[in-house]
Amino acid sequence: ATIGSIMLLDERKEYLTIEAAIGLDDKIVKNTHLPIGASIAGYVAKTGEALVVKDVENDERFKRINKERYGPASLLCAPLKIKNNVLGVINMAHKEGGVVFTEDDLRLLTTFASQAAVAVDDAYQFEKSRRRLTEFEILHEIQGELHSISSLTSFRQILVEKLRRVFSIDYAIWFTVDRKETTVVPDGAVGKTDIPLTESGKIDLSRIDRGAISLRDINLDMFDIEDITKLSLFFSEKLRENEHYPSPKNAFMAVPIVRSGELAHVFCIGANTDQAYNDDDISLAELVISQAAVLFEKERAVLNATRLMTMGNMISEISHDLRKPLTSIKGGLQILRERWPELAEESEFFTSVDEEIHRMNLLVRELVDFSNPNRYETTTFDLRQIILRASDLIGPDLRKRGIVFKPSFSEAPWEIMANRNQVFEVFLNLFMNAVEAMSEGGVLRVKGMIEKPEHKKQEYLAIKVTDTGVGIKKENLSRIFERYYTTKETGTGLGLAVVERIISAHNGTLAVKSVEGEGTTFIVYFPFER
Ligand code: ADP
Ligand code: MG
Repeated sequence: ATIGSIMLLDERKEYLTIEAAIGLDDKIVKNTHLPIGASIAGYVAKTGEALVVKDVENDERFKRINKERYGPASLLCAPLKIKNNVLGVINMAHKEGGVVFTEDDLRLLTTFASQAAVAVDDAYQFEKSRRRLTEFEILHEIQGELHSISSLTSFRQILVEKLRRVFSIDYAIWFTVDRKETTVVPDGAVGKTDIPLTESGKIDLSRIDRGAISLRDINLDMFDIEDITKLSLFFSEKLRENEHYPSPKNAFMAVPIVRSGELAHVFCIGANTDQAYNDDDISLAELVISQAAVLFEKERAVLNATRLMTMGNMISEISHDLRKPLTSIKGGLQILRERWPELAEESEFFTSVDEEIHRMNLLVRELVDFSNPNRYETTTFDLRQIILRASDLIGPDLRKRGIVFKPSFSEAPWEIMANRNQVFEVFLNLFMNAVEAMSEGGVLRVKGMIEKPEHKKQEYLAIKVTDTGVGIKKENLSRIFERYYTTKETGTGLGLAVVERIISAHNGTLAVKSVEGEGTTFIVYFPFER
């Protein structure tokens, strides 16, 4: 035969396309899109039975006008079949010598087709495994890169870049669900869209009606939020209604991100092609996006916890400073009252200021109580454990900057009686300072031992926290424990003040050694019972 083609069924087994051909026009090869059941190949794909057509024009089943380019009117068509699963068909036409195909020819082709089907199926399976591998790769990569992702914007960017390795993406829009208003609010976008852009080329969300997509038409509690097909349909319609959003074509999906059983975000992904995303694309996107979102939230929660943890004592440090000016205002008011007694009697002014001062005093006291509920609670615990827990909490920061953490403790009675949270905070503060001093990476060493501090007669439990960071200038060394002293752009200058207060409340003492450009060692001394 001088004409032949292999046609494969699409994933949903709806139509046939030509995958390989000889003797056929390129245009035909590219444009053929044959619904299952239609024409001879479609018929064979549907029934799974091979057939020989002696004369197309006169065959009862097809009766069609033979086209010149197919040559003689005799054809062969065999299914590519594994068990009962039809993957496609093989067509042969134009038998050499202008003769008609025989039953023998058909038998030969059928045998060949069953071999070919095995090969095609193998290729499919291989493709599937490779895809699965890519999926694992992507998830693994995201997990590894997570700690270096600092903002939600770059997080989305990375997600899109990863998914692009598997299917095409032209734009992605991230929506956050506002359950109170029952709307979804766009709060990020990636890629080419018709969305108005800011000067720096970012999507100008302020120029999109932020409440544009209302969820009122769908009952959120009844709606199956995991049903990605429905969600995609809903969102593609809604996006089409708003001129600022890209108009979704076939390649579009809306991936739900569910938090504690509730729809929290929707990630819309689309490409400007007519080729729809297939089920594998959708499930990959779903998996990667939801997994990554959970991981990212976790990581962020840990960082926030670190920050919150140190805030309580900082508030109480500030509160001390609020009390002082309040006392002097009160004193000043008293002086005024004595100097102008007639004024003081006539106007409400003095009383109302008095009341306000009183209120502020109460507020400050509340603030102190609130920030430090267990201030005086002591328990017995292993000091080493608390130190290691504090290092766990800054783990993400350590990884982000490539800092190696090296703890070592020699034999000592590490069980101490103290306020656990406060001691925890001491090390958290020291570790955070060390990390901030090593933006280019380095080593964070913690050494525990028994040692006698300078100017003391007794031995103490000593914890040396050493970093290989920027160090502290000699002339600044005496100032670092002062409240509000900071050399950092966003520093509070309260960390070491808190550390010092806590240590002295535990009858301990502190020492610091530093060489500019080489590193710093803080030594925390706790008294212990022999
Ligand atoms: P903050 O960290 O908010 O600046 P701290 O009281 O924790 O406040 O620290 C005060 C200052 O001491 C810092 O701004 C920094 O200049 C210096 N400092 C503290 N720890 C270190 C360290 N490990 N290495 C270098 N400088 C440090
Ligand atoms: Mg600090």
